Amino acid sequence: MENTKEMRTWLDDLNLDHPLVIAGPCSAETEEQVLKIAHELKDTDVSYFRAGIWKPRTRPGMFEGVGALGLKWLQKVKAETGMKVCTEVANAAHVKLALEHDIDMLWIGARSTVSPFIMQEIADALEGTDKPVLVKNPVNPDLALWLGGIERIYSAGVKNIGAIHRGFSTYEKTKYRNTPEWQLAIEFQNKYPDIPLINDPSHITGKRDMIFDVCQTALDLNFDGLMVETHYDPENAWSDAAQQVTPDSLKQIMRDLKVKKATETAVSYREPLENLRAQINVVDDQLIDLLGKRMQVADKIGELKKEQNVAVLQSRRWNEILGNMVMEGESRGLSEEFVLKMFKAIHQESINHQEKIINN
Ligand code: PEP
Ligand code: MN
Repeated sequence: MENTKEMRTWLDDLNLDHPLVIAGPCSAETEEQVLKIAHELKDTDVSYFRAGIWKPRTRPGMFEGVGALGLKWLQKVKAETGMKVCTEVANAAHVKLALEHDIDMLWIGARSTVSPFIMQEIADALEGTDKPVLVKNPVNPDLALWLGGIERIYSAGVKNIGAIHRGFSTYEKTKYRNTPEWQLAIEFQNKYPDIPLINDPSHITGKRDMIFDVCQTALDLNFDGLMVETHYDPENAWSDAAQQVTPDSLKQIMRDLKVKKATETAVSYREPLENLRAQINVVDDQLIDLLGKRMQVADKIGELKKEQNVAVLQSRRWNEILGNMVMEGESRGLSEEFVLKMFKAIHQESINHQEKIINN
């Protein structure tokens, strides 16, 4: 992809003095619901109204969207509120219908980005359109697959493109619905700094009370915008009830978010500094998470030692670990002194954990 700069024309042309905001319900449910939410979002920072009309659901029999009928409702939203409208497309037929109904922007969902066949089908159907197309990350944390999907769209002559970071699914239960793996988004930005990158805190968190923090992290990491699922009665939404916020909470979130202003010191110092700090925060979170996991394993060893009546401290094993870590550390620019100090502290915490188990 040679000319990623032209991909952001659609965003630059909006001339926003704040991050792009896309908001609206997970699913269009009824005409009244769509219009009521849209009117509550009118005259806010929201530029694009979203609503899913073809819904990719985990199991058959769940609400699968209202279908093409919803396109008419989106046209009404545009006529009545002046907001632009967008929806998810997942095959060539969806693309054709959405373009025929003059939907302003299309996005491709995480379950489609994983499939090169479906991405190619969608790309062929989009050929030459000037509508912006946003590609969500695939459900699995695979940067090459995400970029490959974007490349297919670009190769079909689509010039207005963006990416949506919606997190990644894991077998392991975490506090997120889809873990953000911020490192991967940072890598995306380093590789293609000009491709607009939008964060979707709704599908990352799965819970409305975590949305604000994820939005703030995304803005600190220089994301270009946010896509937030919004419903006037979230608890009774037909899909993704736990993660939707009311239009009023969205307005409050937008008031509370710290957005960087492009003053001169901001450009030369504060912005890169905050960006680097946000990267440090991501790594620190990972460190704490890993240390927590290490202690859980140590606890299990403690239980085994208790059962077998073995001493907590096994110095030969410990010296082996230390030697390896000093070498690993050196190859990453960490001094021997630091690695020894850090691992002694970690080891001490493990011993404390195990002693507690054995003495209980
Ligand atoms: C959505 O945005 O409603 C959606 C289905 O998202 P995702 O593709 O990220 O799961
Ligand atoms: Mn949803």
